[in-house]
Amino acid sequence: MAEIEQTGLLGLDFQELSGVVQKHGQPEYRAKQLFEALYPQRISSLDAISTLPKQFRVALQEEGLEIRRPVIEKTFRSTDGTIRYLVAMPDGETVETVWMPEGDGGEAGDGSSADESDWQRATICVSSQVGCAVNCQFCLTAALGVKRNLSAGEIVGQITAVLQEHSVDLERQRVNIVFMGMGEPFLNYPQFMKAVRLLVEGVGFPESRMTVSTSGIVPRIHDFGGEAVRPKLAISLNAPNEEIRTSIMPITRKWGLDLLMQAAREFPLRNRERITFEYVLLDGVNDSANHARQLVELVRGIRCKVNLIALNPGPDIPFGTPAESAVQTFQSVLVQAGIPAFVRRPRGRDIYAACGQLKRTAG
Ligand code: SAH
Ligand code: SF4
Repeated sequence: MAEIEQTGLLGLDFQELSGVVQKHGQPEYRAKQLFEALYPQRISSLDAISTLPKQFRVALQEEGLEIRRPVIEKTFRSTDGTIRYLVAMPDGETVETVWMPEGDGGEAGDGSSADESDWQRATICVSSQVGCAVNCQFCLTAALGVKRNLSAGEIVGQITAVLQEHSVDLERQRVNIVFMGMGEPFLNYPQFMKAVRLLVEGVGFPESRMTVSTSGIVPRIHDFGGEAVRPKLAISLNAPNEEIRTSIMPITRKWGLDLLMQAAREFPLRNRERITFEYVLLDGVNDSANHARQLVELVRGIRCKVNLIALNPGPDIPFGTPAESAVQTFQSVLVQAGIPAFVRRPRGRDIYAACGQLKRTAG
C-alpha cells in the first residue's frame, strides 16, 4: 500500500505546525492560532482564519497547504435519527461516517428516536481506511479490499466535518467516538493514534469517550496497552472457538485465538474499565446455547462485557440473521454466568451498516 502523503494542514500536530510557521518566517504564536483554528474551532478554510494575516494565508495556499478537510458528499437519513454520510477525501476516495444521536444503540441507549435538533448525546462512527484487507466473511467492507490508509487528518476531518454539520458544542453536548467504520484501525496504527492525540489535545474529546474496535491484530493490541492516552478497547471476537473463528475470520490463521485471548488477558485495564467483546451472531454458525457456554469459558477471568449483534444481512453475505429467540437465549446464557451482555438495537445495526453498505449502495 502507498505511503500516506500529508496533503494539507489538517492532521499536523502542534510541533509540525510550528515547523510550517517557522519556515514562513512567522512569529511562533501563529502555530497556536493555526492549531486553535484547525481543531477546537474546526475551521475548514484558510480564508476563514481571521487571526492570520492575509499574506501568510496566501503564502500557505501557494505552497499547496490548504486545510483540506474531507467533505460530506452524500447524506442518508434513517428513520431512527441515524445519519450516514458518504465523505470524500481530497483525492476523491470516499468512506463512511455515521452520526447516531441519543446513545450508541448499546446498553446505554434507550433506543428511542431523536429529533434532529433535539439530542442530548450522540455517537460518531468513523472510518480508518478506504476499504479493509482483513476479509471477514460476514462483512461487506471486506469485499471492497483495501485501497489505502487514511491519514490522521482524514480521520480527524470526518469527525470535525460531522461536528460542524450538527453545530456541536462539545462543552455542552456529549459526543462519543467509535472507530468502527470502514477499515481495521490497528492496520493503520500510527495514523490512527495520531488522530486520537489530535482529538484529545485539539478537538476536545476525553479519551474515555472513544472506543476502538479491532479484528485482533495481536501485536498492536500489546502496543495499544502501552499508550499513555488511548481509547477503550473492543475486540471483534465473533466466535467461541478457533475452528469457527478461522472459518469466518481468516485473520485467525495469522494470530490464533489463544494469542488473541492472551493479549486480552494481559491488557492493562484502567480503573473500572472493561474490554468489550463484539460478537456478530450468524444463524446456525455461532449462535447456539452451546456456543454461548463456550464463550463463557473463553472470556472467563477477563474484566469484560459482550455486545451481541445480530447479523446485518446484505447481498453477497453468505449468512443469515438468527431468530430473535436465539439471540435472547445466547444473551441469557452469558448473563447467567455473570458476564454483562447486551444486544445492540437495530439502530446499532445501522452503524454496522457502515461496514461497506452505504458506499456500495451509493455506487
Ligand atoms: N475492523 C474493525 C472495526 C470495524 S468493523 C473490526 O472488525 O473490529 C466494526 C464491527 O462491525 C465489528 O465488530 C464487526 O464484527 C461488525 N460487523 C461487520 N459486518 C457486520 C455485519 N454484516 N453485521 C453486523 N456486524 C458486522
Ligand atoms: Fe475489516 Fe472489521 Fe469488516 Fe473484518 S469486520 S473485514 S476487520 S472492517
